[in-house]
Amino acid sequence: MNFSTRAIHAGQDPEVMTGAVNVPVFLTSTYAQEAVGKVKFADYARGDNPTRAALETVLASLEEAQFAVAFSSGLSAVDAVIRTLTPGDRVLMSTDAYGGTYRMLTKVFGAWGIHTDIVDISDIDAVKSSWREGTALVWVETPSNPFLRIVDIAAVAALAHENGAKLVVDNTFATPYLQTPLTLGADIVVHSTTKYLGGHSDVIGGAVVTNDPDVAERVKFLQYAVGAVPGPLDCYLVMRGIRTLGVRMDRHQENAAKVVEMLCAHPQVERVWYPGLTSHPNHGIAKSQMRGFGGMVSIELVGGAQAARQFAEGTMVFTLAESLGGVESLIEVPALMTHLSTSGSLLEVPDNLVRLSVGIEDADDLLADLHEALSPRA
Ligand SMILES: *Cc1c(COP(=O)(O)O)cnc(C)c1O
Repeated sequence: MNFSTRAIHAGQDPEVMTGAVNVPVFLTSTYAQEAVGKVKFADYARGDNPTRAALETVLASLEEAQFAVAFSSGLSAVDAVIRTLTPGDRVLMSTDAYGGTYRMLTKVFGAWGIHTDIVDISDIDAVKSSWREGTALVWVETPSNPFLRIVDIAAVAALAHENGAKLVVDNTFATPYLQTPLTLGADIVVHSTTKYLGGHSDVIGGAVVTNDPDVAERVKFLQYAVGAVPGPLDCYLVMRGIRTLGVRMDRHQENAAKVVEMLCAHPQVERVWYPGLTSHPNHGIAKSQMRGFGGMVSIELVGGAQAARQFAEGTMVFTLAESLGGVESLIEVPALMTHLSTSGSLLEVPDNLVRLSVGIEDADDLLADLHEALSPRA
């Protein structure tokens, strides 16, 4: 079956007892046992929950994977993947990445003997020369945050595998609708389901997806043993979002393309970062490994930090907020908001940068809003 059919049906058969077309929210912490140790579904809900299992089934299906393990946040999914390493291992990660992942690697796992090396992963020669004894994991975000750089997944996967390492792709920005990293050679996909998968800015969640049975077994064990499990209502909300992922992404992209066109022509805009632009440094690889360019756009403004702040505070339809991927348009200043924790590090971002998560509102209203906020004040 094709993507949008799987999004609606995988793991979501009508409920057996009543025929309810939605997966029930199983609010239970434990399960009655038929005899001592004889369980029907599971012994305890940290171990398994039917609503969570349904979410895991659809996530695996969309990423063309055998296994998916759901977590209570994107960062707890990241945490589980890093915990598959052992002290002394090294992680190679990009200069351009989600600040929270960098913070966890350096400020949490640094003290537990996991070393992090930073490189521009869209530059394959730089990746080769940054390789160190002990590099066990390559961590890639593509499109990256906030510059929307594109990494050649197949090339980095080949390099990682030649050297006995695994490749993780954080697929939060693209979603499996636009890109399926496991089919390109990645070993593990990580998601913040908080973003496009949930799609309505009403839930925090995460997932690890893989075809590697050893990784799956370890991550499933960590879900149970560490305990960062999502509640059943949260799982339901993510699943409900996933059902409309295809139509939402189509509209996100359609609107983003119009916003990009308008911003490229605006004199207050110094530079537009969008992988769909032929001027984007990685446009070619974006075209070949993605099925579309997504709904995220970053711009650098003429007039520095002050202009960035004024623009972000001046919109009415675009809401000034962190996060992304919801139906509503959001605007933010990475240097002062999402990427504040990278200040002073190799991941630091310029202060005239503004990041837009283009929503699915009427495009004309979005364009008028941006125009208004960019107009020089009298
Ligand atoms: C938001 C985000 C995360 C973290 O997810 P949470 O659900 O906020 O914990 C990780 N990676 C990327 C790319 C994100 O945008």
